[in-house]
Parts: sequence; structure tokens; C-alpha cells
Amino acid sequence: MTSETTRAPQVRPRTEGWTQRKDAAGRPLLQFASPRRGKPPAHLADLTPEQRVEKVTELGLPAFRAAQLEKHFFVHCTHDPAEMTDLPAAGRDELVHTLLPPLLTEVRRLETDRGDTVKFLWKLHDGALVESVLMRYPGRITLCVSSQAGCGMNCPFCATGQAGLTRNMSAAEIVAQVVRANRVIADGQLGDPRKVGHAGERVSNIVFMGMGEPLANYARVMQAVRVMTDKKHGMGMSARGITVSTVGLVPAIRKLSDEGIPVTFALSLHAPDDELRDEMIPVNSRWKVDEALDAAREYFEKTGRRVSIEYALIKDMNDHGWRADLLADKLNARGRGWVHVNPIPLNPTPGSVWTASEKPVQEEFVRRLEAHGIPTTIRDTRGKDIDGACGQLVATESDQQAAAATPVEA
Ligand code: SF4
Repeated sequence: MTSETTRAPQVRPRTEGWTQRKDAAGRPLLQFASPRRGKPPAHLADLTPEQRVEKVTELGLPAFRAAQLEKHFFVHCTHDPAEMTDLPAAGRDELVHTLLPPLLTEVRRLETDRGDTVKFLWKLHDGALVESVLMRYPGRITLCVSSQAGCGMNCPFCATGQAGLTRNMSAAEIVAQVVRANRVIADGQLGDPRKVGHAGERVSNIVFMGMGEPLANYARVMQAVRVMTDKKHGMGMSARGITVSTVGLVPAIRKLSDEGIPVTFALSLHAPDDELRDEMIPVNSRWKVDEALDAAREYFEKTGRRVSIEYALIKDMNDHGWRADLLADKLNARGRGWVHVNPIPLNPTPGSVWTASEKPVQEEFVRRLEAHGIPTTIRDTRGKDIDGACGQLVATESDQQAAAATPVEA
């Protein structure tokens, strides 16, 4: 044991204020299958371009109506029949209601960073709540989207993981978050329009880092990505601007490598050793650190896209210098130039075991990675003052709804 290891205490992960659900063997419960609930309304964005044409033809309409609806929803960001004057008035409402039903009801909107960060809380058709966060940076606009209502991965530090998985989101519900965000931008509601707004601005980058484990909802996430990147029938975004992240569902990472869509892939690692990662990221009991890193390396080999490793820096939990060395060794053992590490200082919560690493510790962690030749960038965390971490807003809202629903005895 090094003297440094003895100096820096080892804090063990644990839940605070909630009890982690366990399986029959006493391990944290992992939910991969979505509980059966009423399906979200069928929507144009759930269909392939061919299926959209079939659908309008079934409704007795010419095929080009499908392209008109695509343009209204994906480009003009509307599902309001009154704005679709190129569609015949007779039957327009019915057509739009059938193919572009409203999917997201805005429950709350919180702004920070002088309006450059906007967090949305959406209600889905069945009352499930999800969040997305819109962030303006110099030269780009990023939207952090949710892919599931809740999450079945049960990570002990995560507000979303506490309640388990409510259900998978449909592809259209995922896409609708982008459409709504683009509408907000077009209406001049992101940042100060006198300084930054100009016509034609849209979301340029998407990160699948909101609620849910994207690769546990694989088919719908991929359909959403296809819609986002389709230049003719979708939103025409660059695949490189879309980041799909995972806590390490190895078979799904392999599948993603074979899709032929060059999205940016991010592995939320948070610990380089199985002893700690088993406790921090329960899915590590299925697929170990080395398996997840091997799959990440394969992603690079097959796509040529450099992989991001996300690493939340948590005081005395995973921020030890030896862990930076171990992480670098494991990455370098798989080659050079294939990976980039993003340490993310956790939002500080005084008194919690889940709190931010001290600044000098963060700097030392980065210094060690860089000394081993690993490109490293500390990622900035937006929206700290608006329940920035995923799931916090939903947790707050659910508490309020529960309180409102609780009968008060006279
Ligand atoms: S950290 Fe991510 S994978 Fe883990 S419970 Fe939260 S949303 Fe799910």
C-alpha cells in the first residue's frame, strides 16, 4: 500500500435518504425490461420514411403529405394544424392529430446562467415525468435528453435511479424533446436574444445523458438518432454532434459499433477498479471494467471515432491519485489516441459522501492522466443551481405531487 493510499481516506458508496432496491440474492436490483404500461400515442417520428408514406396512403392521401408533415414537425417544429396551411383544410386536424399527436406537456421550466441554461420538466401521456436541459455555449447549443422515464440501473448516487424504471420512452418522445427545444430557440427564449439570437439557430449537439440508460432502450434510441441525423426525412443533424452514453451494457455497445452511424460514444466509467465500480455502478456486476473498456476500444476500431470516458470526481471515493494511474494504465494498455477522459466534478453537497473532490485533488487527477499521455478535459457542469443532476427535478416534482395528493386530516 502506498503512503498516498493511507493518506487519502477511502469513502464507500452508499445511498443517502433512500433504500436501494435489492434482488433475491441481496444485490442492487437491475431492471433491463421496461414495465408494461399503456403505449405512448403512435407518431410520425416512430416510423421509417417508407412507413410514413404507407400510413398516409392508408388514410387515402397522396404520398407527398408524409414529406409535408416531416417538414412541419422536424424543420418548422410545430404540431399545430393552424400553422400547416399547405395541407387542405378539410381533414387537416384529423391528419395532424393522427400522425403528430402532442407527446410532451411542459410542467416546469427553470433558467440559470443568465438564461443560457434552461431545464425542462415534461409530462408524458401517462403522467410519467422526464427532463431535458438546453445549454448555450459559444458556437454551439447542446440539449441533454432523456431516453427513459426513470432508470433501472440503480446507481446509488443518482436521483433518477432511486425510483427504478417507469418505462422506456418512444423514439418520438425522445425526438420531441429536440423539436420543443428548437422551438424555444426559434422563439428567442434561450439566452439574451439581443446578444446571441439569430435566425436559423438550432440545437447542434445532443447528449443522451438525461434520465435513463440509453442502451437499455436500444431500438427506440437508435430510431431517434436516425430521425435526428436523416438529412432528407428528419432533422439533418451531424451524427458527430450526438453523444450516446452508457454505464457499460457491453452487448449493446458492440451492437452500436456495427450500426454505421458515427455518433460519439461515451462510457460513464467513474472507477477503474471493479472493487469500487461494483458498488458505484451496479451493472458492473454483469460486465466488468475490462469488458466495458474492451467494448469501448472496439467502438473506436470499427468507427474511427474517439471514445469519451466520463469520470465524476467524488471526494475520497474515486479521486485517488492511484486510480488516475490505474485508469491511464488500462487505457494505454488498449492503445494510444483512441480515447479522451472527461473528469466531471460532482455538484458539491456539504456533509454528503457524494460530494465534489477538492480543487487540488481534481488538478492532481488530471495531471496524472496527462502525464501518462491521456488527453483529459475537465467538463463543466451547467445548471448546478437548478437541480442540475439528472432526475433531481423529477424527484422534487414527484415529492410535491405526492404531498399535494396526500389528504390533510382536519
Ligand atoms: S446514473 Fe445513469 S444509469 Fe445510473 S441510475 Fe442514474 S440515469 Fe441510470
